[in-house]
Amino acid sequence: MQTISDIRQMQTLACSLKREGRRIAFVPTMGFLHEGHASLLREGRNNSDVLVLSIFVNPIQFGKNEDLDRYPRDMERDLRIASECGVDIVFTPTAADMYPTGFQTTVTVRDVSLPLCGASRPGHFDGVATVVTKLFNIVQPDVALFGRKDYQQLAVIRRMVMDLSMPLEVVGMPIVREKDGLAMSSRNAYLSKEQHLSALCLHRALADVRGLFAGGERTAEKLRKAALEIIGAEPGVTIEYVEFRDGATLDEQEVVDNATLLAVAAKLGQTRLIDNSVLGDEL
Ligand code: AMP
Repeated sequence: MQTISDIRQMQTLACSLKREGRRIAFVPTMGFLHEGHASLLREGRNNSDVLVLSIFVNPIQFGKNEDLDRYPRDMERDLRIASECGVDIVFTPTAADMYPTGFQTTVTVRDVSLPLCGASRPGHFDGVATVVTKLFNIVQPDVALFGRKDYQQLAVIRRMVMDLSMPLEVVGMPIVREKDGLAMSSRNAYLSKEQHLSALCLHRALADVRGLFAGGERTAEKLRKAALEIIGAEPGVTIEYVEFRDGATLDEQEVVDNATLLAVAAKLGQTRLIDNSVLGDEL
């Protein structure tokens, strides 16, 4: 496994691999890897000749009062997990190289960036779309893998790749959960034991709504009320949103179906967690 920090070196290597006809799979991350990231890496490994992982805590996708400075990092451990997952190249650029003085370009994917996390984190998806565009140009992937844990991010990237005719395939992978149901996230490291237990209400709410849906309930407002009741009953959890949206366009839905996305976001103390479920898919 090779670690590369230099942008030009990574791009030159990617271009020569492509000329040799090798298929490059790419998994962009912010590091502090867990089993969710590993599932993307394994799928990428099975689906390519060369597997590239990037680890980059992207400053432009964080808001002013968010957790950029304290975002968890452990490069040594990340490299061990990467190697176990069969990664060929770990790309670790610096923020100064990614955004040198004079940088002034932003990629905006308009409508799909607006609701849900886009409403509570203004500019977040511009930061994501911009860094992912830049990483795609550097790594030249044939296939890029993303988790459905960040469902809206995946929707933004799918739209961007389509709109800008980017020459690659985007693969969305299922949410990997802890045994107790909590969606894995690097930010779970912020949670105390008590907060972790409280956070399980998100999974419980998703499961409850899915049960009502299976029983025939199709009215978003009724399902929403059920989810709000479960999350609202948990002390220390502040609901940010509970919404039913079209799984592709993210347009709001009053009547739900198999393709409807239920997306939730909540805060436990300073820690912001998200989770979701497409009603017709497995949880
Ligand atoms: P992050 O390092 O949080 O930016 O995540 C990097 C990639 O891993 C993104 O495509 C995420 O959606 C994906 N990911 C993070 N957590 C999970 C999870 N629990 N299950 C599946 N994919 C995940």
